[in-house]
Amino acid sequence: MNSRSNLKIYNTLTRKTELFEPIHPPFVGMYVCGPTVYSNVHLGNVRTFTSFDVIFRYLQHLGYKVRYVRNVTDAGHLESDADVGEDKIGKKARLEQLEPMEIVQRYTVDFRNVMALFNNLPPSIEPTATGHIIEQIEMTKQILNNGYAYESNGTIYFDVEKFAKEYPYTELSGRNLDELLNNTRDLGGQDDKKGRLDFALWIKAKPEHLMRWPSPWGEGFPGWHLECSAMSAKYLGNQFDIHGGGLDLVPTHHTNEIAQNIACHHEKPVNYWIHTNMLTVNGQKMSKSLGNSFLPHELITGSHPLLDRGYSPMTVRFFMLQAHYRSTLDFSNEALQAAEKGFQRLMNAVALLPKLQAGTQSTLKVADLEDSVYEALNDDFNTPIAIAALFEGVRMINTLNDGKASLIQEDLDKLKALFQAIVFDVLGLKEENQADNSKVDGLMQLILDQRAAAKARRDFASSDQIRDHLKAIGIEVKDGKEGSTYSFIN
Ligand code: AMP
Ligand code: ZN
Repeated sequence: MNSRSNLKIYNTLTRKTELFEPIHPPFVGMYVCGPTVYSNVHLGNVRTFTSFDVIFRYLQHLGYKVRYVRNVTDAGHLESDADVGEDKIGKKARLEQLEPMEIVQRYTVDFRNVMALFNNLPPSIEPTATGHIIEQIEMTKQILNNGYAYESNGTIYFDVEKFAKEYPYTELSGRNLDELLNNTRDLGGQDDKKGRLDFALWIKAKPEHLMRWPSPWGEGFPGWHLECSAMSAKYLGNQFDIHGGGLDLVPTHHTNEIAQNIACHHEKPVNYWIHTNMLTVNGQKMSKSLGNSFLPHELITGSHPLLDRGYSPMTVRFFMLQAHYRSTLDFSNEALQAAEKGFQRLMNAVALLPKLQAGTQSTLKVADLEDSVYEALNDDFNTPIAIAALFEGVRMINTLNDGKASLIQEDLDKLKALFQAIVFDVLGLKEENQADNSKVDGLMQLILDQRAAAKARRDFASSDQIRDHLKAIGIEVKDGKEGSTYSFIN
């Protein structure tokens, strides 16, 4: 295990930042609630999954063997999280006159493409709700047997009031249970329920409901919260290390997941709960229903009224990582333009790294730089502070390239390895338009050769003209002992 692994994580359950101690090191089990595949993912969803991608990458970088499970909700998610309304996927299928599974396929493919576009790694397992109906029925049976659920007209409800007498039902959200219970007697249109907070484990299918399965209680389908309890326990065990999702999942979905797991297995399922904050637009959560969401391709092409122009996927990823995952991040054109410049500056420095030569002494402190990067990432995955430290490194690279500082081979290797590990492996950034870059490189070499030839024949007017012209279009030429190099000026 890497010696840098004094990782601390903010745990929603305890409201404290705690030292990360996995149950079975070096193995780590991590479950993240995935998308409901009834429409295209918007940029807010991308932010949440990108945050967990960096967490997954960093844990691996520290030497942990991570099993990362992220589900695909392809059944059971009703329009309201309180088990009412039409099934989201069923509704879309009805409107588009397609099979529900055609809807599921279309948006699962879209989701995976979007994840790849932003360079998010695939999880270790991507289980679906429809692929685990048997496990969900078994879990419902067990919760019924243990006395924490009841049947009402073919629907099985979780008995929150009974559970809450023995366990702290609202521990994760920190909400006041009495207030929640006593606020209203309204059953939210579900007259079959005993208590307002009760939620469905298994729902009886109405005649028009398309996605249905046989069960001991008649034909029906699983409640939304149940799939995550059943699948996390199946693949990670009754107790596992990390569970994540967006902050909006805390009060209902994750609260109910915990209740189900405890009612079934009599064990607290998760040691560290991690929640990501929202991407906002003018301070409001980006969401489909508010009409302020945009799709990844709209962002890239700039084809949305809120956008001045398009931005590349890595600019957007960099923009997201410049905020801590627990802070809200407000979208703006200005912030994206600043991120674009910052990302270019970082990549320009990375491109200079292979060209740097070692000297006879070190005039810069690479070890300090390394420490500050790891200190930031170990402090609850603080990517903005880590990126600020990397920019210290960018300054180092630029002064080394200017010949104003030097590093012995060992330090130079350390600097190169640090950038490789953090920029590419952990932050998951990558060079864009690699094919085009190589063409630009070839073209630039041709121009620099022409300039060198002009100089050799003492035609300084031409060589200066080439240099000044390049500078005017944002390309700086530097002359050194080994020949000339170029870099983009921001
Ligand atoms: P859904 O498909 O609606 O269940 O959402 C998938 C994930 O995206 C959940 O973890 C949500 O919490 C998260 N999410 C939804 N909207 C936003 C947003 N505006 N910013 C960040 N995460 C979001
Ligand atoms: Zn979930």
